[in-house]
Amino acid sequence: MLTIRNAVTTFIDETTETTADLYLDHGVVVEPDALQTNPVTISEVLDATGCVVTPGLINAHHHLLQTAFRTLPGTRGVEMAVWLPTMAAAYSAIGIDPELAFASARAGLAEGLLSGVTTVADHHLNWPNGATTADTVGIARATAAAAEELGARLVFVRGSARDDAEVAAASAEGIVSALVADAPQGIRADGMLQVAVGPAGVHSDSPETFRLFGELAQRYGLRRRTQANEQVDVMIALEKYGRRPIDLLDEWGWLAPDVTLAHLCAVTPDEISRLAAAGVSGTHAPACDLPMGWGIAPVAALRDAGITIGLGTSGGGSNDAGHLLADARLAMQIAPLVGPPITARQILGMATKGSAVGLGRPELGSLALGDAADACVWDVSGVADAAVADPVAGLLWAAPGRRPKHVIVAGRVVVRDYHLVDADDHALDDHDIALALEDLLAARRKR
Ligand SMILES: [Zn+2]
Repeated sequence: MLTIRNAVTTFIDETTETTADLYLDHGVVVEPDALQTNPVTISEVLDATGCVVTPGLINAHHHLLQTAFRTLPGTRGVEMAVWLPTMAAAYSAIGIDPELAFASARAGLAEGLLSGVTTVADHHLNWPNGATTADTVGIARATAAAAEELGARLVFVRGSARDDAEVAAASAEGIVSALVADAPQGIRADGMLQVAVGPAGVHSDSPETFRLFGELAQRYGLRRRTQANEQVDVMIALEKYGRRPIDLLDEWGWLAPDVTLAHLCAVTPDEISRLAAAGVSGTHAPACDLPMGWGIAPVAALRDAGITIGLGTSGGGSNDAGHLLADARLAMQIAPLVGPPITARQILGMATKGSAVGLGRPELGSLALGDAADACVWDVSGVADAAVADPVAGLLWAAPGRRPKHVIVAGRVVVRDYHLVDADDHALDDHDIALALEDLLAARRKR
């Protein structure tokens, strides 16, 4: 059993906090009673004096492969119609394969853990030309291996961007069998690995891809995810079909409770009502959409309509950081540009429970009894937090770019004193992880 003691406060969920100690056993939050009856079961105590404890953050929308292409020349301050082909050219120049997938996922997931992200949904959209199912399974396995090594939870979303529909569906089925062996809802029994499906959006994928992915999701109980209403998505939908993306998704059977739509910029009040009525959830990705000029999701209006909204960073091609707490801060700061302000607690709720709901993971994103033992310990005793009256609000308002002191996933400490540690509690140097990716990229640029 792991015990977290003396925290200033523990954010259990958006509406509940406690100053009581936290007990984690066999990967879940347990009653302290167990302690009184059998004190010898305590194997470790983490002292959280001067710290705030929160659930592990859940990045509901990332593209881990793009970690290898941050600040790529020609991809900043450009229209999405320019950005897409520039990224595509960079992918084919370097070459997408399991080795690159592993090195970029490892860097992206390590960065996530070091900033308090315990679960990442990796919407993997790009595959080598002519890839067979076996090739794509290799890429999925490599991504999962990176998560396994670091102790992060991964949701591998088999994405598609203009892939042949039949080929993409066969690959998705192969990935389900290889990674989660037909487990219910595509979630491996230990909860550390999940598979979902997701076309990039109506701007890139055919009705056939949406239909086949939908059938597969139904057969295996998988979550469905796609992107909707970024600048180019609306433009292309109008040009190609004379309809808006939400109309097309509705017609194609993709407005349903098992679907999560990332981005959701420029949705109309009527579209918001339709999304709410369909039970769709959403993922806000402000640190991608805002700086790229692709729009801002009206999060307060979406939430007021009853739509559950999670938070994602999107990938390194548009947001060069996988630091979800920084994006939570941004989400809070820009909310008044598109509606009423949103409180720090509500935004933290989005970055935890909101994301978990969209992934179909009710055990994640909160620290109530029986929930998964994923937690972050944030030191709020330094000068950047001095005289902060509300330490939970301060997590977002104060100390931009803060990192957690300790991070726990499924009851295991994966970040201790600001450093990654492996399953045997040995230090893993994140500089080595960065170098491994950079060396690989350098070697490929020389070929
Ligand atoms: Zn995205």
